Amino acid sequence: MKMKKLVKNCSVLDVESARGFVSNRDILLSGGRIESIRAASEELPADVEVIDGKNLLAIPGLINAHTHSPEMLGRASHDRLPLEPWLVYMENAMGRYSLRDHYLAAALCAIETLKNGGTSLLDHLTMPGGWTNETIDAAMQAYADAGIRATIAPLIPDPSESVMRDALAKRFEIKILDPKLQDKPPSIDEQMAIYRAFHDKWEGACNGRLKTAIGPGGIQWSSPEHLRACFDLARSLDMGVHTHLMETRVQERTVQSRFGMSAVEFLAKEGMLEPRLSLAHSVWLTDRDIRLIAESGATPVHNPAANMRLGSGFSPIKKFLMAGCVPALGADGCMSGDHQNMFAIMHLAAQIHNSSPEGYNPEKWISSYEVLRMVTEGGAKAIRNPDLRGINKGALADITLLDLDDSALTPLNNAVHSLSFSVPSSCVKHVIVNGEIVVRDKRMTTLDEHAIYAECREAAQRHMFSGFMPPEVVDEVQRILKDRNGLYASTKFENKV
Ligand SMILES: [Zn+2]
Repeated sequence: MKMKKLVKNCSVLDVESARGFVSNRDILLSGGRIESIRAASEELPADVEVIDGKNLLAIPGLINAHTHSPEMLGRASHDRLPLEPWLVYMENAMGRYSLRDHYLAAALCAIETLKNGGTSLLDHLTMPGGWTNETIDAAMQAYADAGIRATIAPLIPDPSESVMRDALAKRFEIKILDPKLQDKPPSIDEQMAIYRAFHDKWEGACNGRLKTAIGPGGIQWSSPEHLRACFDLARSLDMGVHTHLMETRVQERTVQSRFGMSAVEFLAKEGMLEPRLSLAHSVWLTDRDIRLIAESGATPVHNPAANMRLGSGFSPIKKFLMAGCVPALGADGCMSGDHQNMFAIMHLAAQIHNSSPEGYNPEKWISSYEVLRMVTEGGAKAIRNPDLRGINKGALADITLLDLDDSALTPLNNAVHSLSFSVPSSCVKHVIVNGEIVVRDKRMTTLDEHAIYAECREAAQRHMFSGFMPPEVVDEVQRILKDRNGLYASTKFENKV
């Protein structure tokens, strides 16, 4: 096999140039990195595999900084559910996963991310197959096989049974109804042993492509002791910590009544706000919270599709940017966000804030350049990989090549505007991760994608994603929707989800 690759005579995204790209460039890849970018020439280096770059635009691989792979099998299986009743639906519909289900869901997540131009993902891995290293291994093996750059942050709940109920008790007393799901989570000590074994087995595996992180569910679902143990271990092993932060108004009120302060103030008081931390959603925050996060170097992760789908609200992204913080972007799991298409996420991020409650002033709108920074620079920070530095000499070779001979990129007046507002993922032709071609001519080179799709369809049938929910689940969701505070007063949940 040839050691080097040359993307010959392509165009390259260049935010400094007037139209956002430069033409006639050769990109030489070696050892998983970009060795050089120079004017296209007829001369070929020795021992090089040539990728014809004619009519292709090279852009940095997009980074999906928040998803939950097991939700892939329940994609688009419900309608009109806000987050709290959705949780009851989601956990019950999933039931119990086999290790193969976990592998398939992660493989599907990787395939969809890659074929839509993403090269990295952060899987905040929920574990309906059981909170064990075998479950984590099943998902990680799929990422190893798919060739994607992946970080897994396993989400293991606080073992103190009361925490989740306490956290939401004053409002909802959410119950998970399926008795199969009533396993008690491992003790804090057992959890730390799982994280340590996970780290020792997978950190830096596949030539640095795979990374490990710790993933407590969220301040609203964890005791201070649980969070402290997670941070202590993360610091001793130099791992990232990834968690949910204030996705809904209910969560914000719950934390206020539980701690007498905001979640961010609690994290600051505990010394937990730091660069290793990434915070999915970050919707219901005060100006002081935003300032504290920006000063700490932690990274918020904006999930506009899931926030819109579950009616959670608008994350104050412009305020983060104005405070000097570049948030990352995430697709979230397919049961709240429905897909893993990071171009679609960029388009939402670029547009929804114009119509948010603060959107009357165009100065508060997010620019296409800011969106591009979020899905690249912000994402690299969330997954703690400073070597993902775009298409630059010495950076890791994670490159998406778009077909310029396509109606969607014709004419290419400004490449950055096109990426942030209009490029469909059907323009994605080749995808390179760590210097290896994982999508060639729109096909996976690493996995038999159609065999994975067939198995995923079968697996979904074994769960409750396309069938009727048991009446007690429907009752529980209805009860929450009729909550005393009237938050969901006009929403109806029917037996057929
Ligand atoms: Zn999430």
